Amino acid sequence: MIRRILIANRGEIAVRIIRACREMGITSIAVYSEADKNSLHAMLADECICIGPPEPSKSYLNIPSIIAAAEITDAQAIHPGYGFLSENAKFATICRECNITFIGPSASAISNSGDKSACREAVKRAGVPTVPGSEGLIRSSAEAAEIARKIGYPLLVKASAGGGGKGMRIAHNEAALKHAVTMASNEAESAFGDPGVYLEKFLEKARHVEVQILADEHGRIVTLGERECSIQRRHQKLIEETPSPALTNSQRSKMLRAAVRAAKAIKYTNAGTAEFLLGPDGQFYFIEFNARIQVEHPVTEEVTGIDLVREQIRVASGEPLGYSAVKNQGHSIEARVYAENPEMNFMPSPGIIRRCHIPGGPGIRVDTHLFSGYEVPRYYDSLMAKVIARGKDREEAIQRLSGALDEFITEGVENTARLCARIVRGDRFRRGDLGPDLLEEYLPMNTKTA
Ligand code: ADP
Repeated sequence: MIRRILIANRGEIAVRIIRACREMGITSIAVYSEADKNSLHAMLADECICIGPPEPSKSYLNIPSIIAAAEITDAQAIHPGYGFLSENAKFATICRECNITFIGPSASAISNSGDKSACREAVKRAGVPTVPGSEGLIRSSAEAAEIARKIGYPLLVKASAGGGGKGMRIAHNEAALKHAVTMASNEAESAFGDPGVYLEKFLEKARHVEVQILADEHGRIVTLGERECSIQRRHQKLIEETPSPALTNSQRSKMLRAAVRAAKAIKYTNAGTAEFLLGPDGQFYFIEFNARIQVEHPVTEEVTGIDLVREQIRVASGEPLGYSAVKNQGHSIEARVYAENPEMNFMPSPGIIRRCHIPGGPGIRVDTHLFSGYEVPRYYDSLMAKVIARGKDREEAIQRLSGALDEFITEGVENTARLCARIVRGDRFRRGDLGPDLLEEYLPMNTKTA
C-alpha cells in the first residue's frame, strides 16, 4: 500500500488530494513554486518542498525538479491532479523508471488518448459514433478543402495534441478554412509542440455530455453516470451538472456503454472521462477521452457517494474496484469561480483578496484554496473555487447553488460567481435548455465569446 504521496499540482485540486490522503492515512507531500510559498496546499500538506520559480515551465511542469522532490522526500507515488503534467506520457514513463507509482493510467493509455485524432479513429473502430470529419491528421489546406466539400461547413479545425480549448478554429467557408488550418496548427505547435490538426464537422447546437469511468488493473470498468458541461466560455467549462437534463434513460445507457467501449479501445485504467457531443436530434458523438481526474469530478462524487481521488489511489496501488455498479441519487451542479471579470471578456483579475467569504449550508460543498489575505498569482489558471450544490432534485440543487453563489465574496479580486448565479436562476437554465449559446445572453454586447 502507498504510504507517501507527492502532489505535483497546486490550488484547489492539491488541497482536494491532501484531504483524500488524510482520510486514507497517507502522508501528503506538497510541492510549491516561489509564487505559492504562502498557499493553502503548502500549509495543509504534511510535508512540503519548493520546486522552483513561479513560471510553470520552471516549477509545476519541470519534470527533473518534481522527480528530485519525490526522491528527496521518499515519496512512493505522485498524484498529478489535472492540467500541468497529468496527461504527459513522458512524465508517467519517467515516474515508472524511477520506481514511483504514477497515480493515473499507464503511459501508453495516456498516449492513446492524448493523440486526439488517433484516439478518435480507435474509438470509431470500436463501434462508437464520432463526429464526421477527417480520417486522421490533415496534411495540407488542399486536403482539408477536399474533405470540407464532402462533409460541408461549418467545420472545426482541432489540434490533435490540443486541450483546454486551445488550437481550435471554426471555418465557415473555404477561404476561412485555409486560414483556420494555419492558425490552429501554429497555435498547437507553440502551445503543445505538435502542429498536427484534424477536422470535425462543427455541430452548432450540440451539448457537451461526458461519462465518468473507473477502470481497475484487473479488467473491470465501472461507469459513474454522466455530467453535462454545455455552459462554457471559450470552449472551457463554467457550469456542470449531473444527471444531464437532456438525456433519456435509454440514451444514457447507450452513452455509458459507448464510454466503456471507448475506454477498452485505448486500454484505459484508473479514473477517466469519455466526452461526447449530443445533437438536438438526440444522436451523440464521441469527441475525446480525458486521461485524468476532471475539474468537475465533485458533482459525480455528490450523487454517487464515491470519492474519486481515493479510488484513483486504490486503483494505482493495484487494488480491485470491488464493485461493478454504482447507484446515482439526487442532483448536483457545480459552478466554477474564476478570478476573472466577465464584464471585460473574462479578463484575468489576479491580486490580493483582502476579505473572502466562502459559502456553506446544507447541500453545499466548496472546493477551494482561498483565504482572506491570499494573493491570486498571475502565473496560473485563474480557477479559485468550485461551488458544488447537491439536492434531492434539480430544483433543490439550483436553489442551493444560486444562494451560495450570491454569498461568495472575494474583495479585491473580480470573480465569476455572480454571473453563474444569474445563469442558474435564469429561465433557460431552469428549463434545462443548455445550448452552447446560453452564456452569451448574460454578457455585455461587447464581450460575447463567439
Ligand atoms: P479540449 O480538449 O481543448 O477541451 P474538446 O475537443 O474537448 O477540446 O472541445 C472543447 C469544447 O468545444 C467541447 O466541449 C464542445 O463544447 C466544443 N466542441 C468540440 N468539438 C466540437 C464540434 N465538433 N462541434 C461543436 N462543438 C465542439
